[in-house]
Amino acid sequence: MNHAAKDLHQPESVPDRRRGIVDHVSATVVDLPLRRAHFHATGTHATQSVVIVELRTRDGLVGFGEGGTPGGTAFWGGECSETIKVMIDTYLGPAILGKSIFAQEEVLAAMDRVAAGNQFAKAAIDIAMHDALGRALNVPVALFYGGAVHQTIPVLWALATAEFEADVADAIHQLDARLHRTFKIKIGKGDPQAEVRRAIRTAEAIWSHAADARCTVDLNQAWDEATAAQLLPQLQDTGFALIEQPVAAWNVAGMARLAQRLAVPILADESLWDLHDASDAFTRGATDVYAVKIAKGGGIRRAYKAAATAEAAGVPLYGGMALESSFGTAAGLQLFSALPGLPWGCELIGPRLLAEDLTTEPTRYENFEVSVPQGVGLGVELDPDKVKHFSRK
Ligand code: MN
Repeated sequence: MNHAAKDLHQPESVPDRRRGIVDHVSATVVDLPLRRAHFHATGTHATQSVVIVELRTRDGLVGFGEGGTPGGTAFWGGECSETIKVMIDTYLGPAILGKSIFAQEEVLAAMDRVAAGNQFAKAAIDIAMHDALGRALNVPVALFYGGAVHQTIPVLWALATAEFEADVADAIHQLDARLHRTFKIKIGKGDPQAEVRRAIRTAEAIWSHAADARCTVDLNQAWDEATAAQLLPQLQDTGFALIEQPVAAWNVAGMARLAQRLAVPILADESLWDLHDASDAFTRGATDVYAVKIAKGGGIRRAYKAAATAEAAGVPLYGGMALESSFGTAAGLQLFSALPGLPWGCELIGPRLLAEDLTTEPTRYENFEVSVPQGVGLGVELDPDKVKHFSRK
């Protein structure tokens, strides 16, 4: 038994809400270059910025969190790195001063009282709180959700250049390097028929190289429901494994109608944020797979609740991302490693898209899977020199 575990048996050190009183929260925007531009039907970005949160308590506990949106911009969900920093500095940080991180629901409720929405900003603080708790108790964050049942998780690759030749070359490189064999082809910008033809050509080129590769598409809300109803059967018949968010985020009823028409599973991403709208979508049959995401879910704790809601409804899980650095990726890995029902693996590829990273050890990818970091808290350490170097002046 190590020293820290023994301490827990002494009554004076049992964690309670008199300990872990938050007395410092700060947020720093960090700008990181990407290896290549990343394409979505609704936006393209060549850099990524994230917000690093530092949380400290009166009794000397420290934790770090990461808040990030795709590209650090606001196109995906309305928040961006700049709003995350403003919300934390002005509202969310002050709201949790004096609260104990050993009473997590009180911390989350305090943030809700001063700000509606702002899931990405709240998630950054929630992650810092989990990191501090794990370090204080000398356990990995996964233990708070039952402990890791996966040490590695299958991880897909996004084909996001929007060009046939470049996407196929990219996929073949990932297959030959044994890094990824599930490919999410980002389509939807431009003529729908042409995009369907491009997706099918891409998938067939991949399958001619590796018959066991799996292909999915993410439309990022590009089509209306009639277009989706007309064209998605072609993707289904070609052998695509999953169709992600073909229609507008608001059109949950349309997602349910498409899910009913098609045998291929439909995944609602932009449509679903927290456990309430997820639960509603399960009732309506609007998503066949649930993309559990820490950032849009408002943090690790609330993402876990949404995942539990999916389990209750019999909806399988997929571990999503918002293009986090290796630090934010570790938060995803801690939670996803504790979820038994994760047949669709994850898409935690932020570290592979970034040209520079923020942790002392890189996220490990091999044999088509990503490794869950071993260690306390999030299981990884921020490199303070890198954070300082890339911090926005
Ligand atoms: Mn998506």
